Amino acid sequence: MRRNISNIVMAGICELILIGGTVAISRQQQTGTPPTQQTAPTAQTPAVPAAEDPIKIMVGRLDLEKYKATIKGLTQFGDRRQGTDRNRAAVDWIEAQLKSYGCTNTERIKYDYQLPAPRTPGAGGAGGRRGPAPGENPVSSGGGRPRGVKAKTGVNNDPMLQPDETLRALDMPQTVAGEREEVYCTKIGTTHPDEMYIVGGHMDGIGFGEAANDDGSGTALVMELARVFSSPDVQTERSIRFILWNNEESGLNGARAYVAQRQALQGVENPAGSGKYPEPKWLGMIQHDMMMFDHGMPLADGTLPKEQRPEADVNIEFQVATKMAGPSQALAWSIEGANEKYATDYPASVGNHMTNTDSDPFKDICPAVSLRENDRGTQIGNGWDPNWHQPTDMYKTYSDKDFRLGLNAAQTTLGATAMMTGAVLKK
Ligand SMILES: [Zn+2]
Repeated sequence: MRRNISNIVMAGICELILIGGTVAISRQQQTGTPPTQQTAPTAQTPAVPAAEDPIKIMVGRLDLEKYKATIKGLTQFGDRRQGTDRNRAAVDWIEAQLKSYGCTNTERIKYDYQLPAPRTPGAGGAGGRRGPAPGENPVSSGGGRPRGVKAKTGVNNDPMLQPDETLRALDMPQTVAGEREEVYCTKIGTTHPDEMYIVGGHMDGIGFGEAANDDGSGTALVMELARVFSSPDVQTERSIRFILWNNEESGLNGARAYVAQRQALQGVENPAGSGKYPEPKWLGMIQHDMMMFDHGMPLADGTLPKEQRPEADVNIEFQVATKMAGPSQALAWSIEGANEKYATDYPASVGNHMTNTDSDPFKDICPAVSLRENDRGTQIGNGWDPNWHQPTDMYKTYSDKDFRLGLNAAQTTLGATAMMTGAVLKK
């Protein structure tokens, strides 16, 4: 079935346009036809209800209250800063949740993380981004051009800015260098277990809040997809891996460790003849990072509108300056198409400046995209999210409209992933 759809697309859009044109002409010919002669169903030609789209049924199993409850569950571990007990407890909790959903084949990536040497004051270096030279346009991280009002951004490192004393105490212990772990589980494909899509979010956070949006919102999205795809009646031809990265905030170290350890294992059957593929070939990496807050551009005084903007959307970004730019763009548009078909409330848009997220280490290896509340470089980087890395990134900060934007991103990725992996419902 999937192959047929692909063939239609491959055969060329001209045919589809022709079909569309024919329809348009026949409709024109019908104008003036008396209503009684229109093709209303009769006893001879009963209306056959179209079989319900199984993917629509799967998307319908996502639920706002479940999504919110998963985010709430993550916030019990505060900001989940990497290299702390609260971060390790969150990894354990996530693994237990995945198992409870039926995604029982959980595994962990282990790696070592050492703290970087502190920057010498006045030495310049990576932190000191230079402004544009006279006559040049400013350039955001990722290569886009920022526009409009820019508000202050940065990471809060002051625990005293967290007014909730219980949360402040929970977030107080700081990072200790050493071994790190991150967890994933896999839906195994029936006919192509050797190929997979990777669906990710990062479970660590910073800023002395609850990291509810960054990135509890993406982590909960991935967990909700694991729940729906692990339902016993869901079957996919290709595999899907659900992974919750650690150490994103310290420089994508968890995703980098995964690529370093597993890139060469892709598509290798192990043990030989077993039909088992510990690392299916990467067909695409779909990252989710900050899914909820789209209130628009900062106001002239640097504050943000209190209400979500009416134009709120899901931003799907690929990176144009990569070896896989073409296939990554195709993946982005496939996901946009799934949004049009399956997301209930909000549209999606595609941008070409993916940056600063766990899909970065994949971007020259396989198709890679990230989904967010806004463009990372030109918008979030320009101060469009006032809670970013701040003590205010707490569950209670967000309205149901904000949570619903995250849910729509979940509907979008679930629909796209189901289509791309050939998902069906078993009778
Ligand atoms: Zn993030």
